[in-house]
Amino acid sequence: MVLASMLNVDLHCHSHFSDGVFAPAELAVRAQAQGVDVWALTDHDEIGGIPEARKSASEVGLKFIAGVEISITWANKTVHIVGLNIDENSTELRQGLASIKSGRSERGQEMAAELAKVGIHGAYEGAVKYADHPASLSRTHFARYIVELGLHDTVGEVFRHYLAEGKPGFVPHPWGTLANAVKWIHAAGGRAVVAHPGRYDFNQLALNAMLDEFCSLGGEGIEVVTGSHTPDQYQEFAKVAQHYGLLASRGSDFHGPEESNYDLGSLPPLPAGLKTIWHDWHSA
Ligand code: AMP
Ligand code: MN
Ligand code: MN
Ligand code: MN
Repeated sequence: MVLASMLNVDLHCHSHFSDGVFAPAELAVRAQAQGVDVWALTDHDEIGGIPEARKSASEVGLKFIAGVEISITWANKTVHIVGLNIDENSTELRQGLASIKSGRSERGQEMAAELAKVGIHGAYEGAVKYADHPASLSRTHFARYIVELGLHDTVGEVFRHYLAEGKPGFVPHPWGTLANAVKWIHAAGGRAVVAHPGRYDFNQLALNAMLDEFCSLGGEGIEVVTGSHTPDQYQEFAKVAQHYGLLASRGSDFHGPEESNYDLGSLPPLPAGLKTIWHDWHSA
């Protein structure tokens, strides 16, 4: 049986293996309680949470898709490429992700040094406290520490003041390449999906050039309905998906109840008329 189009499909979220607040097993239980039928875990550059997620999903009767969200640099900006339906045991994927993640700790030290210059001390140690898996140290963990200091109330505000590009704690970092991300996802038997395309600070020309390159590399999909898009952007990127012949994806990008705008499974469905990334996935 092919998965029906009316299913509640959520193909993007994070566990504490990257910068989410919950364990994979807790996310599986939450996804099921939220009415999700098909669920993917997509930690940043990290696949360590997949076995736990798969086991818990099976226990609660949830169809599980193994995923990952790969950080790349394109035209000097960070872009995220989601890989879906991957084999997490692929050596090529594992080695590729290890090469991307290896710089996170050093970047964290540099971020802490920059934050110290604006009066925020001990940020490295403070951020690591929030990182259950220190190899995945992320700006989000720094944001949680700065909230703890009482400088701002929310992680979002901390990003606006300290961690977004151009702000004092932002340290430019070279991630992977678009070509390698797509190659590793394909080597692992998965499909590559451009994450939250509306979030990048590209003009139309640059976004088109990125999508052209993504398509020429054999990339398959694009997120249309995501926690990062406005309802207008659902329509805008539905047209983009059709224009490029890309398969449409849907994902909350849930990190935690206090930090994310949308809980697992709570977004509207994809606009009608799109071919979905899950159209030919078979139910378990
Ligand atoms: P990193 O991979 O360490 O650069 O961290 C990227 C993560 O930071 C993203 O996956 C989001 O979870 C988070 N993030 C980025 N920008 C913002 C923002 N403006 N507000 C809240 N979280 C953000
Ligand atoms: Mn994140
Ligand atoms: Mn992302
Ligand atoms: Mn994400």
